[in-house]
Amino acid sequence: MVRHCPEQAFFNLDPRCIFHCAYCNSPLLDMSEDKHLSTEKIMDMLRESVSEHDVKAVSFTSGVVGSVDSTVERFVDVVKAVRSEYPNMPIGVEPYVSSRGHIEMLKAAGADEIKLNIETPRKDIFERVCPDLDYDGIWGLLEDAVDVFGKGRVISNIIYGMGESDSDLEDAMEKMCSIGVIPGLRALRTNGINSEQLTSAIGHPEPVTPARAMRLADMQKSILSKHGLSTLTSVTMCMECGCCDLVPFRDL
Ligand code: SF4
Ligand code: SF4
Repeated sequence: MVRHCPEQAFFNLDPRCIFHCAYCNSPLLDMSEDKHLSTEKIMDMLRESVSEHDVKAVSFTSGVVGSVDSTVERFVDVVKAVRSEYPNMPIGVEPYVSSRGHIEMLKAAGADEIKLNIETPRKDIFERVCPDLDYDGIWGLLEDAVDVFGKGRVISNIIYGMGESDSDLEDAMEKMCSIGVIPGLRALRTNGINSEQLTSAIGHPEPVTPARAMRLADMQKSILSKHGLSTLTSVTMCMECGCCDLVPFRDL
């Protein structure tokens, strides 16, 4: 384990968030408590990791704090710092962006891969679980991200277990792969913190079974293959880590 996951230094720039996604713990953190990691602090932690481990990639995520613009600027600042000190290090980013300009800024700063999450295959579920976010806008930004980062360098999480069917997931994965985006299937996790918000947004979620996880991972692999895509082109963040969910081409 390097930082958060094996062989990668994966940093959460700020776990707090101004948005209110029902499955996420970030909105429940105290906004007045400053938890952000400065670029200097991250670079110190990264140097320490590199001196002690074989670090294969650096990844960044963050909640949105202040505004979307200022959060993207935080990513840009830290990505530039990593890129200037480690010219060959793969860098992955998982920001919330609201314009093509944000995506271009992150690429220009030195990021190699970007993850923009659609979160659920169905707009009606999205509107219940992510009331502050823009479902159609994210689909448009995924196309922009493929233009800027390239096919197979854009990933999008789809959480399953929130009332969608396998066929909803199949349609969303087909749509993603047809534009060059790698879908990242994530089983819903419930815990003592998010279960109350989830129940009020979508009722009692039906637990994800191992059989469904296997069936969906097979489906994910066959759709990726059909479109000439593979998770092997993604060398940062969750596809490379593989700790939480099944990753086609690596686990099966
Ligand atoms: S935008 Fe991301 S960090 Fe913020 S509440 Fe939604 S899932 Fe959580
Ligand atoms: S799979 Fe993704 S969320 Fe899970 S530990 Fe790895 S990097 Fe973190």
